[in-house]
Amino acid sequence: MQDTDLYRQILGIELPWYVSRVELDIPCESVRVYLEYKIAAEWTCPSCGSAAPVYDHRDERMWRHLDSCQLKTYLVAVVPRVKCSQHGVLTVAVPWSEPESRFTALFERFAIDVLRATGAGKCGATAARQPRPGSRPDAPCCGSRSSEA
Ligand SMILES: [Zn+2]
Repeated sequence: MQDTDLYRQILGIELPWYVSRVELDIPCESVRVYLEYKIAAEWTCPSCGSAAPVYDHRDERMWRHLDSCQLKTYLVAVVPRVKCSQHGVLTVAVPWSEPESRFTALFERFAIDVLRATGAGKCGATAARQPRPGSRPDAPCCGSRSSEA
């Protein structure tokens, strides 16, 4: 099995997208999975869903995905923009990520699950500042106030 076919299957990539190549970077402990689309692909406006021709392409983008084994994994693609007669020029939706996100949907799901499991989601940004055992808390968590004098 080719590495491109392996990643196509484990990522669930479907036409018109396909995995064009996979680059392993051992010094950086990462894998880059390059995605391209079939030229004959028919695109739709992400706003109204009507058929729309390709207008141009955004610069190459990269999305952080879940690790492949112990290697950081990134998806890389040049995403087309379409010109809708009603909504103008818009970037097409990609199946692996939300618009404008730098993470894949699966990576975001994993991050949310980790935050929930650790209770960090309740405290948002203050979770990273949780006091170490034995140290004195310097900031209240979740708006609670310490009664220590
Ligand atoms: Zn439209």
